[in-house]
Amino acid sequence: MSKRILAYRRLDDQQLEQLREKYQVDYFGKLESADDPAFREALGQANGLIGAGLKITPELLDSAPHLEAIASISVGVDSYPVDELTRRGILLCNTPDVLTETTADTGFSLIMASARRVVELANVVKRGDWQESIGPDRFGIDVHGKTLGMIGFGRIGQAIARRGALGFGMRVLYSNASPKPEIERELGARRCEFNELLETADFVCAIVPLTDETHHLIGAEAFARMKESAIFINLARGAVVDEPAMIEALQRGQIRAAGLDVFEQEPLPSSSPLTQMDNVVALPHIGSATMETRTAMAQRAVDNILLALDGERPLSPFNVEAWGDRLT
Ligand code: NAP
Repeated sequence: MSKRILAYRRLDDQQLEQLREKYQVDYFGKLESADDPAFREALGQANGLIGAGLKITPELLDSAPHLEAIASISVGVDSYPVDELTRRGILLCNTPDVLTETTADTGFSLIMASARRVVELANVVKRGDWQESIGPDRFGIDVHGKTLGMIGFGRIGQAIARRGALGFGMRVLYSNASPKPEIERELGARRCEFNELLETADFVCAIVPLTDETHHLIGAEAFARMKESAIFINLARGAVVDEPAMIEALQRGQIRAAGLDVFEQEPLPSSSPLTQMDNVVALPHIGSATMETRTAMAQRAVDNILLALDGERPLSPFNVEAWGDRLT
């Protein structure tokens, strides 16, 4: 009997057709809830999953006895119980590389928008409140020539740093699990202790994966160490930051501003103080959200699941150990 794929995020017609050419496909383009009975039924028969934005729990996996592989349409894998998948022999694939430059663009736009108060001042014009020249109380700060502190120096972190160093003459500091000598040479970047970075950087930018180790990595103590003039950027995941501590630091003027793409709760509730603060640029998790890149991510995931279900090595497997010798 032909294998079945359960797809639970929007794919374009061509991508769906590619899946259907080889397998039976159950498609939930706009899944409201994992409790949807039709979704649960499809899960019970699925050999492959492709999607994003759904928290995959061990309890959900219990309902998926035939599952062999998952292709996430994301690079971050914090929605998946990776160790549990590996223990069950389920291969997880993600979409590195194809979103790196786009996400770095978003990161840099947060740096620029926060420093130059772009959203706040554009709203002054839109409200019809531009009555006279903007004075010092509404001046921004320069980005060029400043110190950029990267917390996380992987693919996206390095791409942001490249923009800063080569485009804006920024000095780059980074704090990362391992040293990155090649890019140090390329950009003149320097690896330093976490605390030194917090105390020195003009822009502190978080782009680490969310793991047990990085959960609330940036909390009250970290904000207290930052300069009063510092701007904090979070492009990683909301829970990398202790959000109430960040709000307090912004309200008390411990830091100057924040540019945020991700939040502890998404969508960000309208009751959050972050929605009311002029010194916060808040985006609805759009790091990779361009037409080109979202299409490329979905295509990578389609390629991954097709290869995996054919028993071949996918383009970007995340937990290769799940399949033991099959992928070596
Ligand atoms: P990556 O290449 O794996 O880079 C992550 C970096 O973080 C690696 O250099 C890693 O160090 C470092 N790291 C991991 N744990 C650490 C720790 N505890 N302390 C210090 N450094 C640590 O991943 P990426 O492609 O740059 O993506 C990074 C994350 O960005 C993703 O996991 C995702 O959550 C987030 N993201 C967000 C958006 C968005 O829409 N806002 C879009 C894409 C990605 P090593 O190199 O030594 O392993």
